[in-house]
Amino acid sequence: MTYKLRIVTPEGIVFDDQVDKVVANTVTGEICILAKHINLVTVIDVGKVKVCQGEKIIYGACSGGLLTIKDGECSIVATTFECAEDIDVARAQAAKERAEEKLKSDEDAKRQEMYKAKLKRAICRLKVSSMANGSN
Ligand code: ATP
Repeated sequence: MTYKLRIVTPEGIVFDDQVDKVVANTVTGEICILAKHINLVTVIDVGKVKVCQGEKIIYGACSGGLLTIKDGECSIVATTFECAEDIDVARAQAAKERAEEKLKSDEDAKRQEMYKAKLKRAICRLKVSSMANGSN
């Protein structure tokens, strides 16, 4: 049995279709959503989102957001979300290296948090991208 999933970012609608299952990384752990899930609001952490549509599996890199289920329909409002095939690997690799370098060279506590967040997003993008390429 399927249900409607919509994923949106400030840039627009990323995904809007019927799905069988969504697996996402919330701040309190992994959640797996099947049809007829009860109403829910939860916060998604930086991480992989897996969407199952029949035989098809779509992986996405999410940098955090809100997942809600209302009357059987699921919505993810994400800060950023890229489907695996849209991830620019060279950009993510460069972002990872920049963040690692800054973490070593700039000790300012506030900026350290920002670099850590950037590093986490870059690692997530690299991981999700490699999954789409079948190396995971
Ligand atoms: P960068 O330093 O490369 O901009 P970032 O982590 O600071 O990385 P974000 O602020 O998370 O970037 O994202 C800004 C916009 O760029 C978003 O629309 C996001 O979807 C997109 N984006 C960021 N990195 C990538 C990537 N590697 N491939 C495709 N889109 C990306």
